Amino acid sequence: LFVPNDLGPEAEFEASPQQGHYLMHVLRLCEGAEILLFNGRDGEWSAAIAAKSKKAVRLKVLALQRPQPPLPNLIYCFAPLKQGRLDYLVQKAVEMGAGVLQPVITQHTQVAKPGIERLRANVVEAAEQCGILAVPEVREAEKFERLLAGWGKERRLIFCDEDASTNNPLPALQAVREKKFGLLVGPEGGFSDEERRMLRVLPFVTAIPLGPRILRADTAAVAALAVIQATVGD
Ligand code: SAH
Repeated sequence: LFVPNDLGPEAEFEASPQQGHYLMHVLRLCEGAEILLFNGRDGEWSAAIAAKSKKAVRLKVLALQRPQPPLPNLIYCFAPLKQGRLDYLVQKAVEMGAGVLQPVITQHTQVAKPGIERLRANVVEAAEQCGILAVPEVREAEKFERLLAGWGKERRLIFCDEDASTNNPLPALQAVREKKFGLLVGPEGGFSDEERRMLRVLPFVTAIPLGPRILRADTAAVAALAVIQATVGD
């Protein structure tokens, strides 16, 4: 269970109403039952249900189970899609090793102001589901030009480009090991010609092809994330 509280021996606090309901009425746990908690900072701790009443469930932190791992190196840059598809995209990015989620507003992006709080809630839910303790960071949306201008020169940006020649991206991918690097996937309408031109001239950008067919943005995202996990694995 993800909790915002500080986790340490003997800490005690109340679960949120939703979590209380989940513990009491879905899992049907009773007092003394043990659960695992994480907050994305202090690792994973065991905790016991100290007391329960109609309204609230009190938790008592017991012992450290797993130390806090670092965030993966991947900075996942994506043009926000319409809500349902965006929820899916965010969930897959967490499962497939994104350490930071960076919404990018390009010329053809459909959703100019994605709901960051909703993205953060989706990230926590995905982290709980896939059992990771490092909760990816969701940054405020950034304009495409600012992203490129601010991209640290020492960081490589992998750009999913349906027009990329079939150059083998693996050497560039191998070069990113142990360093922070980015993956950039375009919106449903694709990058504009001007954006593509900008990407192609930057020395720190590597275009990767994902086959000869036009993929939907969320398909391309999962495919590119899989290529990265298969080569860099982080
Ligand atoms: N440009 C296409 C659709 C873009 S699909 C059109 O206008 O119909 C959305 C994004 O998925 C693209 O911006 C690109 O980042 C990625 N993508 C789609 N198909 C791809 C492929 N075959 N190879 C690499 N990336 C692809």
